[in-house]
Amino acid sequence: MDAENERGCYCSLWQKSPETLEKQGVPRGYCGICEICRKPGHLRQAPGATAYTGAWCDRCYRALTIKHYMLWLALPLILAAAWLFERLYS
Ligand SMILES: [Zn+2]
Ligand SMILES: [Zn+2]
Repeated sequence: MDAENERGCYCSLWQKSPETLEKQGVPRGYCGICEICRKPGHLRQAPGATAYTGAWCDRCYRALTIKHYMLWLALPLILAAAWLFERLYS
């Protein structure tokens, strides 16, 4: 991954094979079309440890990141509630 590419996206494709991006209708300065709102965005790994790679604009990517962390925050709470429920009703 490029050192200057702090986004971890595929903008370096513009140097390697610009025709790939042009074929997809991606404007310069971006490397993908957002899966959610179809705006120009960047192709990158989904937030968290998922192996999924997709294209998102900065706005949708941020929303996705927040959702991801909310899920991880909610998970222990759900587990704790389930544990408590079991103790109370068994
Ligand atoms: Zn990019
Ligand atoms: Zn978007």
